[in-house]
Amino acid sequence: MIESNTQYIEKKTAIVIGGSIAGMLAARVLSEFFEEVIIIEKDPKSTKRQLRKGIPQGAQGAQGHVLLKSGEEILEELFPGLIDEMIKEGSVPADFANDLAWHFHGSWKIKYDSGLSIIQQSRTFLEGHIRRRIDRIGNIHTLYNTKVKGLLTDGSRVTGIEAETADEMVEFSSDLTVETSGASSLAAQWLKKLGFTTPEKTEVKVNLFYANRIYRKLSPIQREWKSLLVYPNPPAQACGGGISPTEDNQWMITLLGYGVKSPPADNNDFLEYAKNLEQPHVYEAIKDGEPVTDTEVYRFPALRRFHFEKLKSFPKGLIVMGDAFCRIDPVFAQGMSLAAKEAKALQEVFKKAGDAEADPKIFHHKIGKIVDIPWLIALTEDFRFS
Ligand SMILES: Cc1cc2nc3c(=O)[nH]c(=O)nc-3n(C[C@H](O)[C@H](O)[C@H](O)COP(=O)(O)OP(=O)(O)OC[C@H]3O[C@@H](n4cnc5c(N)ncnc54)[C@H](O)[C@@H]3O)c2cc1C
Repeated sequence: MIESNTQYIEKKTAIVIGGSIAGMLAARVLSEFFEEVIIIEKDPKSTKRQLRKGIPQGAQGAQGHVLLKSGEEILEELFPGLIDEMIKEGSVPADFANDLAWHFHGSWKIKYDSGLSIIQQSRTFLEGHIRRRIDRIGNIHTLYNTKVKGLLTDGSRVTGIEAETADEMVEFSSDLTVETSGASSLAAQWLKKLGFTTPEKTEVKVNLFYANRIYRKLSPIQREWKSLLVYPNPPAQACGGGISPTEDNQWMITLLGYGVKSPPADNNDFLEYAKNLEQPHVYEAIKDGEPVTDTEVYRFPALRRFHFEKLKSFPKGLIVMGDAFCRIDPVFAQGMSLAAKEAKALQEVFKKAGDAEADPKIFHHKIGKIVDIPWLIALTEDFRFS
């Protein structure tokens, strides 16, 4: 028996705006339900030598990047065999309670055998492996060098997007559009322009910086860790740093600070900054090491979330997820795992809807709940700083 308010749509084409982690995971899930999924990405495709500009940690890909266990588990579920494949090709497995030396709020955390192993690698390596799996899915196509400029509507629902290629403006129709263009998302402006209600925004400025370098070798010292993290000691000490192993037997060194007026600008400053941390371990480990990249600085001004989940009316045909929905302080390494959890939520919503049209409000409500706790965890820590 069909309920009178149930709407059915054809699930021919889904468009995903942005081909990063949230976009690729959404595409993977939607490929189960739609005849064709098109990812539209403004950057060219990355190669091993040339990294995509839109990767959120800069050109050299040196940014320490942690994939939490929940994210790893979902990746494995969506792409069976992926984790073993990555370990074979260079990811470094580690027990994060035993192999990580972690200085937190003024003391070293006790190490113990947790029995839980996570994998460590650069963001580009991880993204490249997911991309490889996506490229093998027959009904997913990616258009590179194509920048989405706005949404199309028939007045009540979103019916596609308009985009700019190197030569022309083009329009694509879709039965569903998924907005995963990350921190620079213009979803709220696009909706406003079309006359739809826009979400409230919560923004908390943290003025965080990261400075990164890759090292081929660390100083020849005795080490009892695979990874090292000297977290700032708020409120007095707002600076920290970390070291993590990566593929190709290299090391990613990350320095960070909240509200620091002049982050390290060059390689000399980088060493000097490490020397002045509350603990000497990062400095000791790199002072006689062999760097392969120069210092690269990345600034993260604010945590930001758009409350799509609170909107009473929202056009059908559009959903927003990933950093476009909520962007958390990256020090807590939650973004990719949240994107993975959101992709699972998307799968559940579509499975439950069956042949009926999945309601974006139900999905946004679900992912609002998914981000609530990590958002509060990050904020609770960030509010320790003056
Ligand atoms: C410095 C830093 C460190 C981080 N560290 C971690 C970590 O350790 N662990 C972790 O889990 N997460 C980390 N994150 C967060 C993580 O990178 C994101 O949460 C994750 O990538 C999911 O983001 P996303 O796919 O929604 O957006 P993004 O990764 O930002 O991707 C957005 C994509 O959309 C494309 N795009 C943008 N505009 C358009 C347009 N108009 N048209 C077409 N394409 C467009 C971009 O080129 C990009 O490919 C970090 C983030 C930063 C900034």
